Amino acid sequence: MVIKNVNLETVCGITSVLPKNTKPEIAFAGKSNVGKSSLINALMNRKSYARISATPGKTQTINYYSINDEMYLVDLPGYGYAKVSEQEKIKWGQLIERYLHSSAQLKAVFLLIDIRHAPSENDRIMYQWIVDQGFHPIIIATKLDKIKRSQVQKQMKVLREGLKLIPGTTIIPFSSQTKQGRDEIWDMVENQFLN
Ligand code: GDP
Repeated sequence: MVIKNVNLETVCGITSVLPKNTKPEIAFAGKSNVGKSSLINALMNRKSYARISATPGKTQTINYYSINDEMYLVDLPGYGYAKVSEQEKIKWGQLIERYLHSSAQLKAVFLLIDIRHAPSENDRIMYQWIVDQGFHPIIIATKLDKIKRSQVQKQMKVLREGLKLIPGTTIIPFSSQTKQGRDEIWDMVENQFLN
């Protein structure tokens, strides 16, 4: 994808009415601090347009980034941030579910998991929500540069088993440091979901 322009067009909080967009949407979900903002910046060729925070849990909104006025990258709220009240967590969860359930233009959902760690209970719940809404999530294994090359296959197996992935599910290892995986993600979006 040649990025000509990007624009944070809509920001939705827990009480917002979600936009009825006419262009395709590609959504990104993941635990806070997994590297979601870094990934979205890398996809948009921007350094810090999507917020990268030292404090996890800051993204409490759904952010719609318009790309070339032809599609949206949709940044879903990061889940699993310990310092947030149970009530807040439930509200974010409801917002994410509402989005997955009601977005007519949603074409694909990418779920981000840190390649270093076994998936958490929240990761499994998120995966299941996405599947329950009729999507076949693609997994992005983030922070690839933090493990040795020799560990990659083993960690992918840990993700596959930990999430009980549907056989055939694609896992794309990604690093926002080296940008490895970026082109593969765009190729997949363009070839499989934008036509
Ligand atoms: P978010 O909360 O999911 O949006 O995560 P961020 O993109 O804000 O990243 C959280 C932290 O992880 C930041 O300190 C990032 O610099 C770091 N980080 C994100 N992606 C990578 C990566 O691919 N490699 C490394 N080494 N660090 C990363």
